[in-house]
Amino acid sequence: MAGFTMELNDEQKEVRDWLHGFAADVIRPAAAEWDEREETPWPVIQEAAKVGIYSLDFYAQQYFDPTGLGIPMAMEELFWGDAGIALSIVGTGLAAVGVLANGTEEQIGTWIPQMYGDADDVKVAAFCSSEPDAGSDVASLRTRAVYDEAKDEWVLNGTKTWATNGGIADVHVVVAVVDPGLGSKGHASFIVPPNTPGLSQGQKFKKHGIRASHTAEVVLDDVRVPGSCLLGGREKLDERLARAREKARVGGERVRNAAMATFEASRPAVGAMAVGTARAAYEVALEYATTREQFGRPIIDNQGVAFQLADMRTSVDAARLLVWRASWMAANGRPFTAAEGSMSKLFASETAKTVTAQAIQILGGNGYTREYPVERMHRDAAIYTIFEGTSEIQRLVIARTISGMSIR
Ligand SMILES: Cc1cc2nc3c(=O)[nH]c(=O)nc-3n(C[C@H](O)[C@H](O)[C@H](O)COP(=O)(O)OP(=O)(O)OC[C@H]3O[C@@H](n4cnc5c(N)ncnc54)[C@H](O)[C@@H]3O)c2cc1C
Repeated sequence: MAGFTMELNDEQKEVRDWLHGFAADVIRPAAAEWDEREETPWPVIQEAAKVGIYSLDFYAQQYFDPTGLGIPMAMEELFWGDAGIALSIVGTGLAAVGVLANGTEEQIGTWIPQMYGDADDVKVAAFCSSEPDAGSDVASLRTRAVYDEAKDEWVLNGTKTWATNGGIADVHVVVAVVDPGLGSKGHASFIVPPNTPGLSQGQKFKKHGIRASHTAEVVLDDVRVPGSCLLGGREKLDERLARAREKARVGGERVRNAAMATFEASRPAVGAMAVGTARAAYEVALEYATTREQFGRPIIDNQGVAFQLADMRTSVDAARLLVWRASWMAANGRPFTAAEGSMSKLFASETAKTVTAQAIQILGGNGYTREYPVERMHRDAAIYTIFEGTSEIQRLVIARTISGMSIR
């Protein structure tokens, strides 16, 4: 039997087709409306919960797919439907991954189900790392977490920004500084349970794209959470801080912090979202080019148009292959010796920007209007080169990994 296959297995194909059906029948028809409303599409999330797409079970099943392709396949199909709505459906996953990556079994069992709620009463969660003065430079976070020994509580103070679902979430996962002397090694992640006093939503951002997804500041003003809300627990934190202090004393060696571990695990998934948007725009452009006639023939009859479509399809397929490779490597414990996760996110997100722009060009005037979806897809695509680490940061990570040099 051949030891290598590029084919999805029957179960994966079934899941893909089911997701595609939901994306085509429920997400895509609602896309323009929620883009204009710039509001969280609660009825669509609820619909996704009813059929089992918005649920812990579904994500756990995809997450633990041994080939690694479960999550990228799901992301591509949902984001093919619409990026803003799909992010509203999968945004909770970023907080869930934060708990999975750093939490104890008990914390995972307690908090992740609460992040989703149930089909009759859906909830969302938010992962809050970025701050006004700490975007790419994660090490410069200022939000402080101080332990109140007498009450066994952590007290959080600071302002988070750009939080997907920030302020409307039931459960917030907050990254904060516990030891300012250690830079990014002195960070820890905390659960802020529903209705905790002191947590409030700041400004809600009006955005260029993915407008159905809620993005806001989260203000933490003397937010008190029980000691059990420290992800990973006190003992693990103390050990980690002691190791980091020792390394700081003898100098050198980098320690991965909680937020970076979360970002690293999610990068190929963001690449898959970008593949979904790029593929959607390519398909609209291909259909348009074969039906729109100028000079008495379909515009695709011109090499100038046909070659663009050939390039678009080639880039989309290449992006997917990089995403699948990185996802397969992660699931099979292969070391990322050339930052293949970052590579996949970099290439797929740049591809989404280019391909959606090419799609507008192929649709001409129609492409520039909201009567056709490629204008929205192009606005949506711009996010992929920014969040979860900008393209420049991905290049930095790749360059440092392949060279072993501390390139700035
Ligand atoms: C819609 C949206 C949703 C988001 N959701 C979340 C979320 O749920 N949770 C969360 O914590 N964060 C979230 N973010 C934040 C996102 O991850 C940050 O915006 C991103 O990391 C970039 O940070 P910044 O915006 O502060 O840009 P900056 O870091 O200020 O970067 C500005 C520019 O400078 C470049 N640059 C910076 N440093 C370097 C360098 N060393 N070398 C070369 N170029 C450099 C960048 O590439 C970029 O082009 C979200 C952002 C958006 C827009």
